[in-house]
Amino acid sequence: MTQNSLALYMHFPFCLKKCGYCSFISYPDKLESVPDYVNCLKKEIKLRAEGLCLHSLYFGGGTPSLLSPSQVADIMSSIQTISHLLPGTEITFEANPGTLSLPYLEQLSGLGINRLSLGIQSFSDAELTMLGRLHDAQQARHIYKQARTAGFDNINLDLIYGLPHSTLLSFKANLSEMLKLEPEHISLYGLTLEEDTPMYLQVQKGLLPFMDSEIAADQYQLAEEMLESAGYHHYEISNWAKPGYESRHNLTYWQNRSYLGLGVAGHSFFQNWRTANTIDLDEYLLCWQNNSSPSPSENINVDLANQLAETIILGLRLDKGVTAEDIEARFGTCVMDMYYPQIQECVELGLLEEHDGCIRLTPRGRLLSNEVFWRFLP
Ligand code: SF4
Repeated sequence: MTQNSLALYMHFPFCLKKCGYCSFISYPDKLESVPDYVNCLKKEIKLRAEGLCLHSLYFGGGTPSLLSPSQVADIMSSIQTISHLLPGTEITFEANPGTLSLPYLEQLSGLGINRLSLGIQSFSDAELTMLGRLHDAQQARHIYKQARTAGFDNINLDLIYGLPHSTLLSFKANLSEMLKLEPEHISLYGLTLEEDTPMYLQVQKGLLPFMDSEIAADQYQLAEEMLESAGYHHYEISNWAKPGYESRHNLTYWQNRSYLGLGVAGHSFFQNWRTANTIDLDEYLLCWQNNSSPSPSENINVDLANQLAETIILGLRLDKGVTAEDIEARFGTCVMDMYYPQIQECVELGLLEEHDGCIRLTPRGRLLSNEVFWRFLP
């Protein structure tokens, strides 16, 4: 990663079916549009990524593993032709275990994809059924091993805590199963149900219980203990990695550095502008097929005061926190002076600790991070 390099995210808004908790931009009934989407994405790449120096590529979704290997190759070649990939560029591919096979994984690896992110979510078949996932636990274990056979030596597994019906014991079984696989990186997300999701409606109708937030907090704390003793570094609120395997792509976000998000719903922060692409697949396709770029759904010039606040809030998500030295170098201001009352208040509340010109969340602050973050807003 250099001061001037960027992370490039590409969104693939297609899925075979909608999971019960999903509020991401993904279309379960438009697979016939994938070839057109790839063509449009290549046009957007050519217009927006030309001449850029990149330290990370990320195929996210949705379900990127619905792309054929030749479509992935086509996209990779579009990027490599017009932009410069730094040596060792991290190239992540999100994949749904229910859509993978050994030949497919071997082809991805052969194309230079060097990091795989598997949406495992749980190792309990009952929980996977409740979530509406395509795969079962046995398939997840099998695909993980196939990924190793295909040569992937940097694998992230996603797991969800705070599921209805789950207990501390059932979550411990999930964590143990995951640790047996020894992935390099683990992302752990608490279940949140947006109002328009089927699982939210099931909870409203009494068909699923509300999740007890105290059990969810205990599960998170258990994960901290078990993952730390297994040698994982808790480097961000929701992320753990073996040493040297922290996600370079996501660090770009948390360090509030530049990134470009392409495709439907892609978000960018570049040259002081925060922009968001349309979330409407038909609009995206129609515009690019007519060689015009769709109007962004958000286009905001971020002034220095907001950049400073965002850099502090995002940086506090990281275990190493925010150092006065970094903020001084980037914004020419002393964070300790500027935010003295906020920092003191959070320290007194046990949410922040301050040491040697560095502020970071305490374990309690990690659980109640929003209580800290709002205080730094301009
Ligand atoms: S696979 Fe991911 S993006 Fe697709 S429906 Fe499920 S949660 Fe949403």
